[in-house]
Amino acid sequence: MAAPALAAPPSVVFILLDTTRADRLGAWGGPNPTSPNLDALAASGVRFAAHFANSHATRPSMPQLMTGRYYHQNILRAFTPDDHPREFPFSRDDPTAVLLPALLRTRGFQTLAVSSHPWVSPESALGKGFETFDLLPVAASRGHAGAGDVVDHGLAAWQRRDRSRPTFLYLHFMDAHMPRFLPGGEPRFPVPGYDWHRRFRPDGEPAFDRPRRDWNRYDASDFTDLDRRHFAAVYDTLLAFMDEQLGRLFAALRADDPDLAHTVVLVVADHGEELGEDGRIGHDDSLTDTVQHVPWIMAGGGIRPGQVVHELTENIDVVPTLLARLGEPLPPGTRVDGRAQLGAHGSACPSCGKLAAFYAWEDYRAIRARRHLLRENLAGSFRARCDGADQLFALEGERRRALPAGMPVAVQLHRHLRQRLDAPRRTFLASRYGTPTASVVLRPQFWSVADGVAVGCVPVNGDTPASVLRAPGWLWTERGVALLDRDGAPPLAAAVDVPDGAYTVELASVPVTRMPWLIGFARWRKASFAKEDATTFVPIGTARSSAGRLRVDIAPAVAQGLRIVGLRVTPEGVAPASAAPLDDDQRRRLRALGYVQ
Ligand SMILES: [Zn+2]
Repeated sequence: MAAPALAAPPSVVFILLDTTRADRLGAWGGPNPTSPNLDALAASGVRFAAHFANSHATRPSMPQLMTGRYYHQNILRAFTPDDHPREFPFSRDDPTAVLLPALLRTRGFQTLAVSSHPWVSPESALGKGFETFDLLPVAASRGHAGAGDVVDHGLAAWQRRDRSRPTFLYLHFMDAHMPRFLPGGEPRFPVPGYDWHRRFRPDGEPAFDRPRRDWNRYDASDFTDLDRRHFAAVYDTLLAFMDEQLGRLFAALRADDPDLAHTVVLVVADHGEELGEDGRIGHDDSLTDTVQHVPWIMAGGGIRPGQVVHELTENIDVVPTLLARLGEPLPPGTRVDGRAQLGAHGSACPSCGKLAAFYAWEDYRAIRARRHLLRENLAGSFRARCDGADQLFALEGERRRALPAGMPVAVQLHRHLRQRLDAPRRTFLASRYGTPTASVVLRPQFWSVADGVAVGCVPVNGDTPASVLRAPGWLWTERGVALLDRDGAPPLAAAVDVPDGAYTVELASVPVTRMPWLIGFARWRKASFAKEDATTFVPIGTARSSAGRLRVDIAPAVAQGLRIVGLRVTPEGVAPASAAPLDDDQRRRLRALGYVQ
């Protein structure tokens, strides 16, 4: 029997739940009733139970989600435009890749967006694919607009749509992301006998041990069990609030189209969130399942209800699955790395699931199989030096447990990783850059450092004693590389990826004064090592890159007394300059979101 043909492509409501991990939702077994509306939507369509984001944060994850490709350059708004690799100022368009909204627009869809994320905005590459883009304003201290506003604006756009054409409506929700102000002022799932006001601020941030968080905002190693339970309860409260608002949206969609015969509703997330379970909060690159395991739901448009897919799927599968469902082929000459997960009749394709999911970003790549995670750190990076080239973990629910990287399972996983990601990464590295036109700062976590030079691994935070900072030679501090005592240190040979050409090179640095011997050590440590912004640019000459690699030798005599937080490289003939600093409003907003100090 032939598949029932739809008269025209159905419309699509694409719902991006920023920072939403799967296992706090009811349908995925979450402990609190956070998601009755999402659960009902899942029951009316297909739920991908073991679905993974391809990276740990919005900026690296969204490009992979919206192109269906491992690796892709930034598609979001820049906020510090000279900062590699997040906003590389000379990216090149990739004509072999599609961007979902732009593609659907060329196919006659009217493309409408409502966003509460300041980076997901009309002037971004992603935003340019939309006919109308509604970036919701909000007081800077609140960081992002709430789900009520997103749904109100989304419904208004939906009611106003041109019904003679299919519609692609994109809604970006930020409620699960910090700051998490409680709707109603109190958590819905309170921890009995725990006075949270003594421990947490109204925006959800811990109020205790602020200096610890100033060093590392992800550090939750000092949370008590009750703190963790409260932190999770706040998160769940925001999920429940978001779900309630989604309920209004779903009711309105069904008022128009009761069986969703002409409307595909798609729900997915860019990454999850750690809630203190493993000594961390937020979404740094631990790659644990709390950060990587996200929901994916599709319903309507003829998708068979009641399906649950237990095989592994990835965010790069979302675009090909949706396009296949809409009957929209890829344009000639373009490709995706993902695989359509629904067959004819809107049934899950039994042989389409995967044995592993893959994570791809500039300084790591990783494979997540059923029980293990293998992370490969960028070759020659300080992290590879200090934590190992490969890191193997056993995945144990919300936690990960380090295993020796030499175990046989690691060898096997590493082989799969290379088979899957070597070619896409090669293509990406060879094609991502356009013509250099401005200065760019390459942070040291993205450098490759020559083997022969000894580097001390000295992560500096509020507990670091003076003795380790007296060590001679190059020190990797996790916030730059410092040379405090140059006694016998050789030059540091570093290589970075930039387009071919000649550049002037400077050390983007923070000067470090002599360590006080008696009092004032803590203040000195903070002034010298806490901030990531350069205050001084020290010229070290010119260099020419070839085959995309720029090699520089950093002489000890020049680096002595500096913490180097980047190499600022400027194409010859251009005056070195840093990007315009953030204005106050931008800085307040990004601070509320946790992205700047
Ligand atoms: Zn995000």
